[in-house]
Amino acid sequence: MWLNGYKFKFWLSREIDGKIKTVTVKRDNIGDYWICIAIEKEYKKISATSGKIVGIDFGLKTFLTLSDGTQIQAPRYYLQTLKELQKLQKQHSKKKKSSNNREFARKKLAKLHKKVANSRRDFFHKLANKLAKEYEYIAIEDLNLKAMQKLWGKKIIDYAFSEFVNILSYKVNVIKIDRYYPSSKTCSNCGYVKEDLNLKERVWICPVCKTKHDRDINASINICKVGASTFGIDGVRPIIKQATIA
Ligand SMILES: [Zn+2]
Repeated sequence: MWLNGYKFKFWLSREIDGKIKTVTVKRDNIGDYWICIAIEKEYKKISATSGKIVGIDFGLKTFLTLSDGTQIQAPRYYLQTLKELQKLQKQHSKKKKSSNNREFARKKLAKLHKKVANSRRDFFHKLANKLAKEYEYIAIEDLNLKAMQKLWGKKIIDYAFSEFVNILSYKVNVIKIDRYYPSSKTCSNCGYVKEDLNLKERVWICPVCKTKHDRDINASINICKVGASTFGIDGVRPIIKQATIA
């Protein structure tokens, strides 16, 4: 490719699949050039048209808990990189302003930020594909700020959450449940609301029907139920496996 009279080799990150609308060249803060190609394409949802619905709870300990009991952890390498990121951030802020060392530290930090963003996106895509294959409808709670903050770090939390939900929305029907709905405190068996449930209680027993609940699984079952009624689609029944906890 020729750019301003210079010849550049480039690497295509993925197939150009659609009609090219615009091409822009950008230079990032590390000095790498990027060719951004915007395409027009009709999006086909890849879900299995199974009519299956699942509720998802974003958590502190577990990244995702599904209403069928499946729990998905954040990738370990990602959490490790976050630690590395914090270390580099400290190093960077210690260097003298406008020194060569500081510039070097800045580049190193920017590179790692990019690596983190890429690995996160990759994880989100794979996870969303897996979910879309299995389910046609996904019910989620609208932005659980505290949980995301703890897991992904303050700066990237809003971005990480909306990024995952965006990716998911391309592949499957997503319904967001009002974040003030008490999904954790409501007994998914009888509907009793345990107002005094505190954040540390991971397992609780409903005082009315005596069902033993795993906090996250119970929440995701409730999210699934609300989602199913919101979709209001005939024949869609939440698959609910009552959690059995030893
Ligand atoms: Zn109950």
